[in-house]
Amino acid sequence: MPASILVVEDEPAIQELISVTLARNGHSVTRTANAAEAYKAVSEALPDVILLDWMLPDGSGLAIARRLRSEARTREVPIIMLTARAADDDKVAGLDSGADDYVTKPFSPRELEARIQAVLRRRTPQLSKEAVEIEGLVLNPATRTVTGTGERLKMGPTEFELLHFFMTHPDRVYGRAQILDQVWGDHVFLEDRTVDVHIRRLREALSPSGHDKFVETVRGAGYRFRSAS
Ligand code: CA
Repeated sequence: MPASILVVEDEPAIQELISVTLARNGHSVTRTANAAEAYKAVSEALPDVILLDWMLPDGSGLAIARRLRSEARTREVPIIMLTARAADDDKVAGLDSGADDYVTKPFSPRELEARIQAVLRRRTPQLSKEAVEIEGLVLNPATRTVTGTGERLKMGPTEFELLHFFMTHPDRVYGRAQILDQVWGDHVFLEDRTVDVHIRRLREALSPSGHDKFVETVRGAGYRFRSAS
């Protein structure tokens, strides 16, 4: 599945190689070269995966991973550490810091892609059948029902999938193409306007309990589902 990936790597040649490879595999890539840029990028948009170099000019990847894991908003973002170190102790330290996986340089593009897909599968919550609840809005995938403050809300199957995606990925901005990829599975044969149509229907479906206000339009960027009112 295509993902938005934040690359944190200060070595220009390696950053270039990784970014080009990821883009060729259909991912949307944001490049950063140090901790400060990485925090700024994360504050602007939560990526689906972070590739994090171990040694950076303004800090260690371990410290970044720990900080991201300590904050509610970034706790769930999959992190793959990139490093030249191969010692087992370092691997343990990386995983202890909250990294999901660990890739030792030099790695093949194919290996990197396989690791990315593995963490995405493990951490793609909209594939789960667990009920999700945000501010009185409850979506139950097992029974395919949605209630807002106890009241049953009726919606079509596409609006249901869209809401499931949003509720399991709150507070991140998604472009229309990303939403098509995530909810419809492919954006190639569909127009971006399709998303706008279903967003409008979703808001209508959520309006009886006032939860339509959680679906925000982000001008020039796409849509975001807020996790708090
Ligand atoms: Ca480095």
